[in-house]
Amino acid sequence: MQISFEGKRALVTGAGKGIGRATALALARCGAEVTAVTRTQADLDSLTQECSSVTPVCVDLADWEATEAALQDVGPIHLLVNNAAYANLQPFLEVTPDQFDQSFSVNVKAVLHVSQIVARGMKARGSRGSIVNVSSQASQCALRDHTVYCATKGALDMLTKVMALELGPHQCFVLCCDQIRVNSVNPTVVMTEMGRLGWSDPEKAKVMMDRIPLGRFAEVEDVVNSILFLLSDKSNMTNGVTLPVDGGFLTC
Ligand code: NDP
Repeated sequence: MQISFEGKRALVTGAGKGIGRATALALARCGAEVTAVTRTQADLDSLTQECSSVTPVCVDLADWEATEAALQDVGPIHLLVNNAAYANLQPFLEVTPDQFDQSFSVNVKAVLHVSQIVARGMKARGSRGSIVNVSSQASQCALRDHTVYCATKGALDMLTKVMALELGPHQCFVLCCDQIRVNSVNPTVVMTEMGRLGWSDPEKAKVMMDRIPLGRFAEVEDVVNSILFLLSDKSNMTNGVTLPVDGGFLTC
């Protein structure tokens, strides 16, 4: 299946590392003009060295005002990937208010905010759009020491569904002309920097892997391919889904 994003403008958050970086590069390879948003300038420098067509935006998405200012001139966006997230693992009884607030600020509130900015532009221009939120299997399955992370991803799944409900309907008479679709991908463990945080211990990793019918963790490319599918016209009738990229983990 050939996917082209020629003539489209995409914005990817958390594009400095891991899944977000690979998504930004894949979108650029498919012809999109990509804006890469993250908070570490060195990551943006190396990203633009690797792909000179990418437009870098350096901002901490936990900061509402700074995000508003950083994205005010971002221009028309057709494709949005809300990928940035914060994971800080601790047992339930040790969760602190700061960890709770930081996690919800990045994993949920920033998704709401960036999506508002982008979707308002889409609506004002009467243009179509597709938004993919990067959630997790942790949104639907309890994982030890993942209290706050699981809670943020559960909230993100519901945010995805309500966005799909409210942004989907179109006002004009040309079929699909200003429809905005919103979906999420829900991966199992991927051995990025974040994945290594929770799953580097071989014993822990084995217990998790044994629960995945395909018997392996996901590769970054597995997640990127599902994101590209949901962004593309190949999924035109798919809206409001939380797509597991988990080798069957959530079915068991
Ligand atoms: P990484 O930690 O490898 O990359 C996350 C990126 O997001 C980094 O570039 C990071 O920048 C950026 N980011 C984090 N917080 C902010 C912020 N406040 N403002 C701007 N940028 C920020 O994570 P992954 O690639 O593994 O994760 C990507 C997505 O996939 C996340 O939503 C995660 O929850 C989800 N996911 C990951 C899984 C895994 O096992 N890896 C499994 C399931 C879902 P910096 O490094 O500068 O903080």
